[in-house]
Amino acid sequence: MTIAVDFDGTIVDHKYPDIGKEKPFAIDTLKQLAAEGNKLILWTSRDGDLLQEAVDYCHKRGLDFYGINSNRPVGSLFEGRSLSTSVKVVADVYIDDKNLGGLPDWGTIYEMVNGFRMERRHKKQHKSFWKRLFGK
Ligand SMILES: [Mg+2]
Repeated sequence: MTIAVDFDGTIVDHKYPDIGKEKPFAIDTLKQLAAEGNKLILWTSRDGDLLQEAVDYCHKRGLDFYGINSNRPVGSLFEGRSLSTSVKVVADVYIDDKNLGGLPDWGTIYEMVNGFRMERRHKKQHKSFWKRLFGK
């Protein structure tokens, strides 16, 4: 799954433009989700040096993102935005401290993401059963 994750207030306490204290288990949870095959996209309003500080902060802790404010992989050709592409990052799940209902703790986030993934897998299998039955 593609998971878009906010930085300030989500991975770290909100101290923008400074970097707050890490939210308990945020980085470890994200590393685990990446290790399980999810594509993590850093989804933040930071840009320029402030964005680089956030990327470096995560990198120093062993967390690297598939994409940064973009669905295109880091280091790929045309990684950045252009006028012909939408600025919206497309993801299966968005993790943001401004979620309706607020940000759950990271243990709960992990369970919710995996629950959602299992649900989708189950739906896919269910669909393929009918496809098999009717050949569609
Ligand atoms: Mg935020």
